[in-house]
Amino acid sequence: MIFCLNANGNTQMINAQRVPDYGNQAVRQDSVGRYHVRQLAKDRSTLEGSEALHYPRPHLQQPAAQAARRPPPLLGQSARRRTPRQVAAMSPREDVAAMLRAGATYAEIRTQLHVSDTLIHRTRLALNIPLPIGRTRRSKAEMADLDDQAVTMLRAGATYKEIHRTLRLALNRISRLRRQHRIPVPSRKRENPRRYTVDEAFTTHTRATTEGGHLLWTGPRSGRSFDLIASGRTYNARAIAFRRHHGRDPEGQTRRTCDQPDCIAGAHLTDRRIRKDTP
Ligand SMILES: [Zn+2]
Repeated sequence: MIFCLNANGNTQMINAQRVPDYGNQAVRQDSVGRYHVRQLAKDRSTLEGSEALHYPRPHLQQPAAQAARRPPPLLGQSARRRTPRQVAAMSPREDVAAMLRAGATYAEIRTQLHVSDTLIHRTRLALNIPLPIGRTRRSKAEMADLDDQAVTMLRAGATYKEIHRTLRLALNRISRLRRQHRIPVPSRKRENPRRYTVDEAFTTHTRATTEGGHLLWTGPRSGRSFDLIASGRTYNARAIAFRRHHGRDPEGQTRRTCDQPDCIAGAHLTDRRIRKDTP
């Protein structure tokens, strides 16, 4: 019976057959009598670490007669163990490298390409792809400096998010700094949204035209009516416009006499009383 170590470091029985039920673990014996184990899966489709031992090597492909004349190679000599960096360099995953270069996180690459963190890490090391700014390991001095900056930002009332975005410090760390330095949590109560008076709302949401004396409504509307929102209430903007011009509330329907659909110029509006008086 032959056992091998699987990727998780567990001892596992070998199944020489490539059967889906038993995974994809195989063993073969080479011409010098060594056992070669190989375990590849969808999430780990390239050889890693000591698996590099099982790359085909020239002496294994030589005719049997010639191989027999040679003494079996000693481990540690011709079949020297390759470092992970070398292995990754031999079979770099271009898709992984591309995502790393684009600044993707390990988690993003892992999810998208179904590869292990180890493979990503080794690819990065093998191809010398630097970590994006903010993800490099920082020295103690650098961290102390960033802590100081964070404290200054906290005192100035910056949010954790803002500090995190600027300094790339963990939220936990920022929170701890605040407690250590006894910086009070600023109240984040929202100020009341600016409330307009009727007059302010009217001025804000109207625009006079250069010609024709029109006054166009630019504020909110619901259907064909113009909504003037002031002091927490919704008014009919046409009625307000009418009142401002005529000094009284309109009677019945307010109608526009000009050809500008959005016009609410008081002089261009009529109510029932005006329509009755002017035939
Ligand atoms: Zn008009």
